[in-house]
Amino acid sequence: MKVNENFSNLATSYLFTEVARRQREYTAAHPDAEIIRLSIGDVTRPLVPVVIDAMTKAVAEMGKAETFHGYGDEQGYGFLREAIVKYYAGKGVELALDEIFISDGAKSDVGNILNIFSTNNIVAVPDPVYPVYVDTNIMDGRKVVLLDANAANGFLPMPGEEHVDIIYICSPNNPTGAVYNREQLTAWVEYALAHDAVILFDAAYEAFINDPVLPTSIYQIPGAEKCAIELCSLSKTAGFTGTRCGYTIVPKALVKDGASLNAMWLRRQTTKFNGVPYIVQRGAEAVFTPEGMAQCKENIAHYRENAKVMGAAFDKLGISYCGGVHSPYIWLHCPDGLTSWEYFDVLLEQYHIVVTPGSGFGKNGEGYLRLTAFNTAENTKKAMERLTK
Ligand code: PLP
Repeated sequence: MKVNENFSNLATSYLFTEVARRQREYTAAHPDAEIIRLSIGDVTRPLVPVVIDAMTKAVAEMGKAETFHGYGDEQGYGFLREAIVKYYAGKGVELALDEIFISDGAKSDVGNILNIFSTNNIVAVPDPVYPVYVDTNIMDGRKVVLLDANAANGFLPMPGEEHVDIIYICSPNNPTGAVYNREQLTAWVEYALAHDAVILFDAAYEAFINDPVLPTSIYQIPGAEKCAIELCSLSKTAGFTGTRCGYTIVPKALVKDGASLNAMWLRRQTTKFNGVPYIVQRGAEAVFTPEGMAQCKENIAHYRENAKVMGAAFDKLGISYCGGVHSPYIWLHCPDGLTSWEYFDVLLEQYHIVVTPGSGFGKNGEGYLRLTAFNTAENTKKAMERLTK
């Protein structure tokens, strides 16, 4: 037998293990140090009350023969897809029920969607970005072209002359917090239509967008329904990181190489996926009610306030950064020409603050750090006071 030899081409991912190792070693040598982790990529607030109520009711239903649910529709229950149709109508985007596929989170579908594309496609991925895009393509053996995201282009690479077949767009971006505006996304849609390419639009942080002028969905750009798949998640919108629910939109107008990508994705999902738990989908439905939206917005406002506190501290210190406005991430430029790991060590050893080195998100992340707003207000303030004192 032979294994998938493409796995040997994966770079060893040591980012979070190395962060944990350095923290562990420091704590062992300095047991009294009170460490504050501004590296957490996970939400810190619990599920909102309407979600808990909906899931509690669903649990009770599962305990009675008359309301019990076994296997559901692989695409997701109609009630949740209808809620998402309405949510998108509020963005001015018209979707059909069968263009929405409920998932167990964006990460799974970011990888799984590649199942419907040839391994001969050339893939464009921004650098730095969420590492899953590059790794899932390397696992399949596709050629990856990196798009430089740097201070000069505001961490928002734009299309070039080179031909690619699949384009990843993450807006707002993890880790930089940069968000594309309408003109920039229009340029990407025009490129994709001209090159017969497909955009994989990761909108995991769309709920953090704080300006009504900025697009929160690629389908707000005319023509995107003919060239884009959108992947979204309730993880950061509604604290579902542990509950697991997201959705993928594959428009019926998306036809490539003579095939309907919607039909192919349906075929893939009905073959390899058996749906998201009923209880979770009832909780997700509650997110999209007016009450659910209001409660989730409160949590997002809390994270946004933390980001503001961090931004104000770095302004005071004269350390440049971006992000934090439409995103839970602050992207900090390491001062004095320090590398990501050098400044990581300074913050750990002198201030007892743990962050994430930007170099772990791609070569252009060298010299930067990612700080997250996923923390308590108290810890965020305390960490910033340590830095500014
Ligand atoms: N996409 C991006 C850009 C992310 O940063 C993350 C998680 O951090 C995900 C997708 C994964 O989301 P989910 O929890 O829905 O799998």
